[in-house]
Amino acid sequence: MNQRLEGIGMTSRRTRERMIARLREQGIKNQAVLDVMQETPRHIFVEEALTTRAYDDMPLPIGFNQTISQPYIVARMTELLLAKGPLEKVLEIGTGSGYQTAILTQLVKMVYTVERIYPLQRRARRCLRELHLRNVRMKHSDGGWGWEDYAPYDGIIVTAAPSEVPQALIDQLVPGGVLVIPVGDGRSQTLQRITRTENGTQVENITPVVFVPLLTGVTEG
Ligand code: SAH
Repeated sequence: MNQRLEGIGMTSRRTRERMIARLREQGIKNQAVLDVMQETPRHIFVEEALTTRAYDDMPLPIGFNQTISQPYIVARMTELLLAKGPLEKVLEIGTGSGYQTAILTQLVKMVYTVERIYPLQRRARRCLRELHLRNVRMKHSDGGWGWEDYAPYDGIIVTAAPSEVPQALIDQLVPGGVLVIPVGDGRSQTLQRITRTENGTQVENITPVVFVPLLTGVTEG
């Protein structure tokens, strides 16, 4: 690994080990998730000036009024998504920095990810390339519509909060498929896991969370 990926001091493997220990204390149990987070250099996904804080348990700004989710939330959402066994096709709405995408690509067969802010998508693509993570397709679009072309998905993860769950996302799940999504208005929402059943959905309220809002339309830039 080159120096940038390997990290040093606050971006080193040792710092990542401490992050993993903390995630365990916080209740994350899925060993595959912990292993992948141990091996993935989170510091390349944050802005240069913030790299020494990349492994702190907090969201960090990534530009355009957006944030990279805190490690605990990434771990928890991934664990919730994978709880019912390994998945093949996963759709992510809100690529952002690409960190959650990078974690997913190492745990499922194929990841489809949608982002509405083009420069963020471009930066995420560069990071994923640098890590040789290739089982991912990206789309610049409003993810509230899902990504019909590759539907249905075994799982969908949404990293921005709508006030109501977009029906298109439910429709693009296989029966038994799960949607992990923060739902609510304003500064506080509830993380939900929604399972598509034969005749509807089953909703589990997991925990209160704070996410940026799911917005409509796309921006070029
Ligand atoms: N998983 C990302 C989270 C980024 S924040 C990370 O850890 O870095 C949420 C992201 O969702 C932002 O990049 C924002 O631009 C994006 N987003 C918001 N509304 C969206 C929409 N309707 N479609 C696609 N992406 C959206």
